[in-house]
Amino acid sequence: MPHQHHAHDHRRTLRLRRQRMAIYSYLLVWGGVLLGIEIGYFEPYTPHWWLFGSTLAANVVIFLLLASGASEQWGERFGDPSLTIPQMMIGIILITALLHFSRELRGAIMAIYFMAMTFGVFALSRHRMILMALFVLGCFTALEVWEYLDAPESKIISLSIGHFGILSMGLAWFVYVGGHIHNLQQRNREQRSSLQAQQRHLEKVNQQLHDTMAQLEEVAIRDSLTGLFNRRHFMERIEEELARADRRHSPLHLALIDLDHFKQINDNWGHQAGDQVLVRFAETARSTLRRADLLARYGGEEFVILFTDGSAEDIRHVLERLRSALSVLHFGGRPGFSVTLSAGLASWRPGDTVDSLFQRADDALYRAKETGRNRLVEA
Ligand code: GH3
Ligand code: MG
Ligand code: MG
Repeated sequence: MPHQHHAHDHRRTLRLRRQRMAIYSYLLVWGGVLLGIEIGYFEPYTPHWWLFGSTLAANVVIFLLLASGASEQWGERFGDPSLTIPQMMIGIILITALLHFSRELRGAIMAIYFMAMTFGVFALSRHRMILMALFVLGCFTALEVWEYLDAPESKIISLSIGHFGILSMGLAWFVYVGGHIHNLQQRNREQRSSLQAQQRHLEKVNQQLHDTMAQLEEVAIRDSLTGLFNRRHFMERIEEELARADRRHSPLHLALIDLDHFKQINDNWGHQAGDQVLVRFAETARSTLRRADLLARYGGEEFVILFTDGSAEDIRHVLERLRSALSVLHFGGRPGFSVTLSAGLASWRPGDTVDSLFQRADDALYRAKETGRNRLVEA
């Protein structure tokens, strides 16, 4: 799941960045409030240390929750892993408190509410933005009503209603436009993740294709009955090996093997039994030969072996071992039958071609058949 993990980290980084932006915003507003106190737009007794101190402390807690990943559980429960809703509520409450200490410029200072609302555009659905807008209106109304009840003579009702109306209009507009931005962002995100899913799918299909190709290549060079290499593959390889022998004068021996009286086996025991013999012969040959020896089914009950290592003497020994290993195998129940092979062996000489090498091995095999079968003849 490396993709998901990556996206996950990426999202957390974005949340932390947004959280830092929030903290800088508070510091900026704090500076503005200090200036406002200085020049008389805020009450001189504004408890700015207390207000901003507690707000920043709350934000540090949120920052730690985000950085540690503890916010993820909350996110799963409430669908708000960025903790945007509590963050905005803290901001909105702070601004409402500041408004209480503001003087003539309250109407202008109210615009700071929109700083808090801006953070919702990144993360909140339109539905939640409406709730946040109502929260702003609720806080503001509560402040105005409380101030009125506290000191009715100090309030100008028409001004309060004007502020409320403009705030409502501004928030409604914000929810409307912010919702569009949110949808665009959401669509973008969905497209990206569907692209990623497509890419993963393509990678998987590509892998399957590779596997299938490898299987096909394997099938193309094998004989289906015995699993040995087929004639075509053998002919390709013998060309290469002959070229190598030409260059380096390295040893090269070709053995042709033909099972004896195979037609009779088919006739007496059936084609199935004949197939079984071919399979057993292949198994025996595979376990007798070394890995480097190239064994193939040349056709019917004829097999070829190419040795690229060892003296003619060594190869004779190997073939004799194979001949006797086959001859002691028992087939077809009791009394059953046994099978022998005849083999012709030719060793590479300078100037040899594939044809001349085959010709000598074939002549040797013919002599093995002529002189009584179940034997090896060397050219
Ligand atoms: P020899 O000792 O002279 O080699 O006699 P032979 O009977 O083996 O000679 P021949 O080459 O005439 O016969 C080969 C037989 O092998 C003929 C064919 O029906 C049989 N054969 C070829 N391919 C297969 C196969 O895949 N399965 C089976 N069961 N028989 C096969
Ligand atoms: Mg034959
Ligand atoms: Mg034969």
